[in-house]
Amino acid sequence: MTSWEAVIGLEIHAQLTTNTKTFCNCSAEFGATANTHICPVCTGMPGVLPVLNKNVVEYAIKLGLATNCSISGHNEFARKNYFYPDLPKGYQISQFDKPICLKGHMDVVVEGKESKIGITRIHMEEDAGKLVHQGSDNIKGATHSFVDLNRSSVPLLEIVSEPDIRNAKEAVAYMEKVKQILQYLEICDGNMEEGSMRCDANVSIRKKGETSLGTKAEVKNLNSFKSVEKAINLEIERQIDILEEGGTIIQETRHYNEATNSTKSLRSKEEAHDYRYFPDPDLVPIVISSEWVEEVRKSLPELPEARRNRYMADYALNEYDALYITSEKSLADFFENTLKFINKPKDIVNWLMSDVAAYIKSKQLSVNATKLTPELLAGMISLLSAGSISGKIAKDVILEIFETGKNAQQIVSEKGLAQVSDEGAIKQAIEQVLQENHESVESIKNGKVQAIGFLVGQVMKKTGGKANPGLANKLLKELLGIS
Ligand SMILES: [Zn+2]
Repeated sequence: MTSWEAVIGLEIHAQLTTNTKTFCNCSAEFGATANTHICPVCTGMPGVLPVLNKNVVEYAIKLGLATNCSISGHNEFARKNYFYPDLPKGYQISQFDKPICLKGHMDVVVEGKESKIGITRIHMEEDAGKLVHQGSDNIKGATHSFVDLNRSSVPLLEIVSEPDIRNAKEAVAYMEKVKQILQYLEICDGNMEEGSMRCDANVSIRKKGETSLGTKAEVKNLNSFKSVEKAINLEIERQIDILEEGGTIIQETRHYNEATNSTKSLRSKEEAHDYRYFPDPDLVPIVISSEWVEEVRKSLPELPEARRNRYMADYALNEYDALYITSEKSLADFFENTLKFINKPKDIVNWLMSDVAAYIKSKQLSVNATKLTPELLAGMISLLSAGSISGKIAKDVILEIFETGKNAQQIVSEKGLAQVSDEGAIKQAIEQVLQENHESVESIKNGKVQAIGFLVGQVMKKTGGKANPGLANKLLKELLGIS
């Protein structure tokens, strides 16, 4: 097992968030009623002519620059010919030997080890439509199938990596980084459930130390980071088993089934010449001036690495915290927007990493999709740091904010949660606790001073978490006669 090495390359398809499709002005929005976003162009009627959406080119340039690619000043569209019922034209408009971006790279870190993953190319293409099967979730067993062409001609960028990836974890780290950059550039929402990011993995193995490549299999249908990791590991094991038993790997396309965590052969792998690529005669070559490239470069937003460094320098966040907060653009934006209301970066980060993270994870939401706003979070933190509520109550308050969207002050007064700093009230609770806990009192008097923590806990319990814990501690010690 250890004498083998995996060689992995990923092809990632990212669906762009342009308003309209690649070659017509139909809406590119996801989720509309079937066949309501269609026209003669994207349904492949005879005699129509495609007109390129300039934003698609601009988005491609953005991604190319952000991934250290060179932008090809002269690139062109080609027809990729194949038949499938969701492709009315009988060909997909893609790019072949003259893609828009070439030779980039990205650095990824896995368990502290940094590796450089080359990017072979990024090209523009249009998506196909979608088959909707009735009575089954795939064509086998379906009674009949419909074609929905809303997605037909929605713009995609395909990002093809070099075979520089050596294991499944590295593949996931690379893919997460691609998603992060797409989101920061605001050109793709990265939503894998809705299919706006899809991935195919080319996997082969070879003996460690060898430089030539083994025969690869392409694994398709990787719709989550988990499936990328699992499917690659499965494929590596499958190939090792075959070779160790003296067999040979055949070049093929395999389909990953998430439910059964298994792959099965789909077809023997096609070669590029099977698609009869040729330049699309309906579309002129795309000429990109260096001025345009520079203009786009100037418009690039601050990317995750730059933001992480700035947070460490300006807000004294440690690297772990800065990495966490910049891992999603929405989270980093939330952090910065909260800072506008309260200048307590470390407190904000702590809440975002703990209670907020737990809540959004349990609801599978992005931080923007809850009732908690930066202003509401800041309000809660300010009540806590002013001592108006205890840390324990703050945890209840934030949950209440998530449920109701009310501000912390309102929740505290409505529910009577304000921290009790009234000595008389706390003393009363302490006296009750002392009466109920003779044993602890005795052991403290016999020198076991650490038992005082237990008594403070009882006082907090008795006051519903509202007693000011510092004050309770001080009063307890006074009443017990210890300093
Ligand atoms: Zn259309």
